[in-house]
Amino acid sequence: MRKNDELELDIHDLHANGHGIGRDVNGKVIFVSGALPGDRVHARLLKVKKQYAYGKAMEIITPSPHRLQENDPRICPVSSKCGGCQFQNFNYHAQLTFKEKLVRDALIRIGGCENPPVLPILGMDEPYYYRNKAQFPVGSDGKKPLIGFYAPRSHRIVPINGCNIHHPLCGEVLRKVKYLLKAHPIPIYNEETHKGLLRHVIVRVGFSTGEVMVIFVLNSSDPHQIQMSGFCHSDLFTGKGFSFLYNKNTAKTNVILGDQFTVLQGSGYIHEEIGHIRYRISPRAFFQVNPVQTKVLYDVVASHMSGNESVIDAYSGIGGIALYIAGRVQNVVGVESVEDAVKDGVYNAALNNIENASFQCGAAEALVPELLRGKNYGTLILDPPRKGCDSGLLDMIVTSEISKIIYVSCDPATLARDIKQLTSGGYKLEHIQPVDLFPMTGHVETVALLQRKNP
Ligand code: SAH
Repeated sequence: MRKNDELELDIHDLHANGHGIGRDVNGKVIFVSGALPGDRVHARLLKVKKQYAYGKAMEIITPSPHRLQENDPRICPVSSKCGGCQFQNFNYHAQLTFKEKLVRDALIRIGGCENPPVLPILGMDEPYYYRNKAQFPVGSDGKKPLIGFYAPRSHRIVPINGCNIHHPLCGEVLRKVKYLLKAHPIPIYNEETHKGLLRHVIVRVGFSTGEVMVIFVLNSSDPHQIQMSGFCHSDLFTGKGFSFLYNKNTAKTNVILGDQFTVLQGSGYIHEEIGHIRYRISPRAFFQVNPVQTKVLYDVVASHMSGNESVIDAYSGIGGIALYIAGRVQNVVGVESVEDAVKDGVYNAALNNIENASFQCGAAEALVPELLRGKNYGTLILDPPRKGCDSGLLDMIVTSEISKIIYVSCDPATLARDIKQLTSGGYKLEHIQPVDLFPMTGHVETVALLQRKNP
């Protein structure tokens, strides 16, 4: 088998990155872009490795029953070029089945669970326009500015006019920025030369409040140029609940945000309501990107609270989970490394008249062991970033008095790895609830409940 060979394949599975998976006559795994489970395709090989190969679907010979019709109006017109979505042409119910399997497979393959207790995934009724945050890179084709999203695995910008997974206000701001870039040309940042000014435009929206925050990421320590440009004085960006900020990022880096924010207009915050709790969100702080499903997620976590327990909410952000569950527990302490998020947490506790929640700023791997040494906590919530928990922290947890762990994760692979360490250390995985926070993409959120075997 060599590069550029062509073959017919039945696709039987899917990778989270959107590649269909088939096997050749010898059983070798072939990842095929543009193919879905149930398709029979004519594929060309692009890369051949010892154990597997990569290919591209040249023709769909028999379409999968899960494939939307090519002219289905729900499919985004740039979905084959843009790296944002992997599953625009994949029936939503099939997406959900696939994600449930993804979680189960990770627990078997990485977590060492024989028969993982995976509950039926909780999906969305309306799986479009759900994202509250858009990060648009800005570039140039040499003649005119480009703004949109990156193509898969590249920094090539695919220009867009709107996006059907983001809140409509994100698309509205994008179109205004496009218009303004024509009316008030400002230098566009060039990644190769590290020259130019405007790098990214970030839009965050409060679904329940309609508040909007627009952040211009600039390769400059001086916001003067952007203030002069007329952008933020434009009628297009005024109105109640509209904040306009500038972020300074002068580093040669792929990291989008720099450290310093300057509010040019408005309060510099947005507010969001999830169920009974109102949250203030500052520009640096993380907040779940799908507010509708965040309520579903937080309700799952809250359902595991028994009333009289002391809880640590590690990786607490702006207090999302801690404040949501506060009414169901004796007390809760949030641990979070981003100072602005901790400030939001403290502010949000007061905003909601919650007196039994407190927040500490620092790394979970340092602060959680300290908390566990000082007091008896019965329940630990873990909601780490994609890379999962520090293994030293997990080692410490298995020697602690914690009887119940609720592990919220956005990456089934690192979750399965960490569950293996916790189950080897004396915890039992009771069940795991997938929640679809990211329709049209290969990502999935989960809530795992673990109990100590011999309390
Ligand atoms: N539970 C929150 C946030 C989860 S996202 C919610 O539901 O909104 C993960 C959070 O962990 C982010 O706020 C991030 O800033 C924080 N974080 C990342 N590494 C950390 C660490 N080592 N210790 C503490 N917090 C960390």
